[in-house]
Amino acid sequence: MLDLQEIDAFTGLEDVRQKVVSGERLSREDGIRLYKSNNLLALGYMANLVRERLNGSRTYFVKNYYLNYSNICELDCKFCSFYRKEGQEGAFLMSLDDIFKTVESDKDNITEMHMVGGLHNSLPYEYYLNLLRGIKKIDPRIHIKAFTAVEIDFFARLYGLSVEKVLLDLKDAGLDAMPGGGAEIFSDRVRAKMFADKIGADQWIGVIKTAHRLGIPSNATMLYGHMETIEERVDHLIRLREVQDETKGFFAFIPLAYHPHIEDSTQWATGVDNLKSIAVSRLMLDNFPHIKAYWISMGPKVAQISLGFGADDLDGTVRDERVFRMAGASTETALTKRQLVKLIKDAGRIPIERDALYNTLESFA
Ligand code: SF4
Repeated sequence: MLDLQEIDAFTGLEDVRQKVVSGERLSREDGIRLYKSNNLLALGYMANLVRERLNGSRTYFVKNYYLNYSNICELDCKFCSFYRKEGQEGAFLMSLDDIFKTVESDKDNITEMHMVGGLHNSLPYEYYLNLLRGIKKIDPRIHIKAFTAVEIDFFARLYGLSVEKVLLDLKDAGLDAMPGGGAEIFSDRVRAKMFADKIGADQWIGVIKTAHRLGIPSNATMLYGHMETIEERVDHLIRLREVQDETKGFFAFIPLAYHPHIEDSTQWATGVDNLKSIAVSRLMLDNFPHIKAYWISMGPKVAQISLGFGADDLDGTVRDERVFRMAGASTETALTKRQLVKLIKDAGRIPIERDALYNTLESFA
């Protein structure tokens, strides 16, 4: 049971509160203490100070379409429910024609296309280039945020090209930005157990730094709530903060709550953990403009509450997402613009429909 006096006094966290108020950067030890504190409201109060300093009450969303072009993947990461092997039941690969028909029929409702897929080892390079070109041809205003650093690294190895060449080719074909997935958690210990064959932190960061240098901004994520420690979470945040100091290429940080797909799994992210993760990331990532509450992974109701715990972005309409859905997420498959506006307004915030670069398209003040 929380003691109100304890909340008022920021017991055990007063020194951190003073740093937050004065805008001083928090240390690794501060981050660990915040994560280990059960004074959730104090965490929220401090994170909200930073949130309002950076973004006031503005809360962003975008009309976006999540397109998973294929789930066929040469890897088999233990935490992943999305991948299938070629020919296996549930495996899919969308033809370019089908993708273009989908985009054409819905283009008035799409500001941003978010596209990621498995590591498909028999698709030609032209598939990806024509995918981008085709969408831009349908509507050049659609912003394309596609391919994780893991996919970019895979393309480079598969097609015998440098990461830089792949990124330049994709940019030339229409790539505007990259999503933040694939980072999972920057821990060699966890990687060895859960995604041993996937690129590690150094390679992920290397691809992202190259993208930022070439003028391709990105988001960053952290998958939490599985077997990682609090210390590993904070180390992940600090590495991202260091990259951002150098490149300034990240728009938003998105904590992703793990959805267990193994029936007897004892690990999953709870509501309190979701709110703590939003608050601690807002406090530690002082150089990230935005913290996004991804409602698909934490549910719209917790995402709405997180707007008082440091988040200033609710992602968007997110139609057709399959990665979390195949992991058993029971949240809605899409939200309408009206629903997003209501969620934000009921949280006492100002809904802002944004484009992919956080320019205001419509304010609902
Ligand atoms: S997480 Fe990505 S790389 Fe790993 S198996 Fe799933 S789709 Fe493949």
